[in-house]
This record gives sequence, structure tokens and C-alpha cells, in this order.
Amino acid sequence: MTDAQYGKVLPSRVDALKLTSQGARLEGMVSPDSLPRLREAVARVSVPAQASLSFDRDASGHRVVSGDLKVEVEQVCQRCLLAMYREIVAEIRWVLVFAEDQREHLPQGREPWMVDEDGGDLHHMLEEELLLALPIVPFHPLDDCVGSDRYSSDAMPTADADHGDNPFQILKQLKFDK
Ligand SMILES: [Zn+2]
Repeated sequence: MTDAQYGKVLPSRVDALKLTSQGARLEGMVSPDSLPRLREAVARVSVPAQASLSFDRDASGHRVVSGDLKVEVEQVCQRCLLAMYREIVAEIRWVLVFAEDQREHLPQGREPWMVDEDGGDLHHMLEEELLLALPIVPFHPLDDCVGSDRYSSDAMPTADADHGDNPFQILKQLKFDK
């Protein structure tokens, strides 16, 4: 399956070990259907996510994946309750790990990607990055928001004790409040 605008579909599972040995580069898209947790966290995933990934070995021999990732989502502004469209952008900095004990020796600034002899779940990792890049509470920029007179930002929900610090829990809460 290909899409002229977004390029080819990235495979769900990839042989990450082989790709890092080859110094491979992967570019393509992940359809909203393959991002169920992201779809759950926002009002709509408007377009396929697009990723550009380089597989490599760093100077210390770690197998690493670097690149970037973006998607456009529709969220509900929590100030005016109207739709807002936002491009979510994430930088990919992963290191392949093959067993739990390797987590102690990870290069700084890289997220572990657990893989095994069957490869690794690429869609899951990409979705994880997009979820982390989502704003905890979405707002229009103040100048563009019709609700800016109605509430001060002091009254906005924050990651307080009621919600814990988990952004996904807060998003769920906001969805139910609608
Ligand atoms: Zn707004």
C-alpha cells in the first residue's frame, strides 16, 4: 500500500538488528489505524504520521536509531472548547536493547527500544513518541482563542494531585468532561 502524498507504509515490525548493521534509512508513514492509543488521546488523527529514520552504530558500538516524526491531530481547546489542529513533532533518539540488564549502560539522551531475534515493534515505539510529545492540556495560542476572555489561565486544569502527573490520565479526564 502506498499513498502518493505520504509515501509508503512503514512496516509494523522491523529487523532492527539487521537495519542497524546495514546503516539503513527508512522513510514512510504510519496510518491513523495503526495508532490506536494516539487516536484515543485526541479528537482525531487527521493525517498519517510521517517518519524518517536512520539506523546506525554509534562510536561506542551501540545500535541506534535517529530521526524525526510528525503527525497532525485535532484536539479540543480546553479554554474555548473548539477544535484546534496541531502538528505534533517528535525527535527520535533510540538505542536498541536486547535484555533488561543492558538498560543500565545506555548512552545518555536515548530511549531504549527492546528488540528480540524477531525484531522490534516499530509502530508501537513511534506511537509512544507521539504520545509523549502531545501537550498535556491543549490550548489555542491566546491571540487565536475565542475563549481567552472567559477564563484566566490560572483556572485551567493542571497536573495536580487529583489527576496525578500522568498526561494520558488527564487527557482521558478531559474527554469524559466534554
Ligand atoms: Zn481556544
